[in-house]
Amino acid sequence: MIVSSKKTFFNTLLLVSSLLFFSNMFADEISYSLSMPKPSTHYFHVQMIVSKIPTKMLEVQMPAWTPGVMSITDFARYIIDVNAYSSDHQKLPFHKIDKQTWQIENGHYSSVMIDYQVYASSQPATNTSSLTNNSGFINGTSVFMYVVNGKDSQSNLTVNVPQGWQILSAAGKLGQHQFTFSNYDLLADHSIQLGKFYSTPFNTDKTHDYLSVTGDYTQQSIKLLLHETQLIEKTAESMLPLIDTKHYTNFFQFIPNIKDPDGLEHLDDFLIIDNQPLTSHDGKSLDNTIDGYPLMWVIAHEFVHRWNVKRLRPANLGPFDYSKEVYTHSFWFVEGATSYIGDLILLKSGLWSKQDFYNHMSQQMTLLNKSRGQFVRSMEQASFDIWLKDQKGGPFWNSVWSDPHIKGELICWMMDLSIRHLTHNKKNFLDFFNLFYNRMYVQAKPDSYYLKGRGYTTQDIVQALQDTTQTDWHEFFKKNIASPGQIAYGYYLQYAKDSQRCGVRCI
Ligand SMILES: [Zn+2]
Repeated sequence: MIVSSKKTFFNTLLLVSSLLFFSNMFADEISYSLSMPKPSTHYFHVQMIVSKIPTKMLEVQMPAWTPGVMSITDFARYIIDVNAYSSDHQKLPFHKIDKQTWQIENGHYSSVMIDYQVYASSQPATNTSSLTNNSGFINGTSVFMYVVNGKDSQSNLTVNVPQGWQILSAAGKLGQHQFTFSNYDLLADHSIQLGKFYSTPFNTDKTHDYLSVTGDYTQQSIKLLLHETQLIEKTAESMLPLIDTKHYTNFFQFIPNIKDPDGLEHLDDFLIIDNQPLTSHDGKSLDNTIDGYPLMWVIAHEFVHRWNVKRLRPANLGPFDYSKEVYTHSFWFVEGATSYIGDLILLKSGLWSKQDFYNHMSQQMTLLNKSRGQFVRSMEQASFDIWLKDQKGGPFWNSVWSDPHIKGELICWMMDLSIRHLTHNKKNFLDFFNLFYNRMYVQAKPDSYYLKGRGYTTQDIVQALQDTTQTDWHEFFKKNIASPGQIAYGYYLQYAKDSQRCGVRCI
């Protein structure tokens, strides 16, 4: 009984997909079909049709990691039941050539359909996908294979959900189930919430956004969440360069007792997962914290990534080599500048007082001083070694690790004080950041199929600072970025003290 119903199910899917198959047979694109016919089994079903294959062998691959989480996850471990078919439904031979790559012998067939299942846990985590009886969340890198050397092909996606389920992707409107992306990287970088969930549209001054919530919340707490999110995002848009898309989606999951509360940025959305219910005891502000940071701080941080790293990006971080670790010496700027700009947004929005800002910076200094790591690794070295961070090094690792998130944020504050000092308070960190963004993302000739602009190097950061202040910054970088050691807080904070005379403000 079970076998025959399974057989019927696959025959039906094959029939439906074969119609799609032939319609796309001559297109220079890759088409994906995603479904979850039995969510309780925790399996997504994916069919991937590749056309115009110029060779007799086709290689498809699962990513080993997801951008934003510098850790090898090997998503191939969640894949089962792989099959490959020709355009006339013949099963094609294939074999794995390494842990994440399938080589298909397509012979004279120029179009191939790859069919597979992906396991997704009921426990959500930012770097993977999840599936339960009534909801699912898609992180593209954990679900979709790509064609080796074919990531630049247009990628089409059709999502089929059980009756009564909703679909919300950062790539479209609520309920939209077909999407087109100009390449695989963009397909993989648009999250999708599926199932039964709360969602509401809202506007900032410049974009049409969505807020989506699953888990444990009250209507009152949702109102506060919407208010804070909207305020943060409106303020950010007033401080940062005009973004080149008109929509953004904020995905929240409040799931008590889950293991890994965290936030993760994508091109035009973020996912924040908290392990507490969304609550407010005083009815005026939210109580939630994630890893010791207030939820509003995490929202501001993830939203600023829309500019810093998703568009303005270091060399190697877009387009991505998903097959292995990619390295940058600039991770301190990716995370540090993002946090610091987030701090400025909270201040300007009124969600933080100046005292809140100083308390936060004091907390960051205390955290940094907990280990001797800042005397062991420079920010450039820590950026390069970020891939070692999640490998559970234990007490030894903690004693030698210098977190580029934290030290990077403090360095960016010192950079702001220096810029203000050098320009007699005519310029600040945001002037530098906006110049750098426009130069590298908006104006630079694209260096790949991926997005506008090109990836930057450390020298590009130095040059943008020099052009903002008309002063040489190599000494600052030598001391604070290229060398281990404690930041000379007193030296830079003195600029703020001197400001009583010259007008430089500390923040
Ligand atoms: Zn971040």
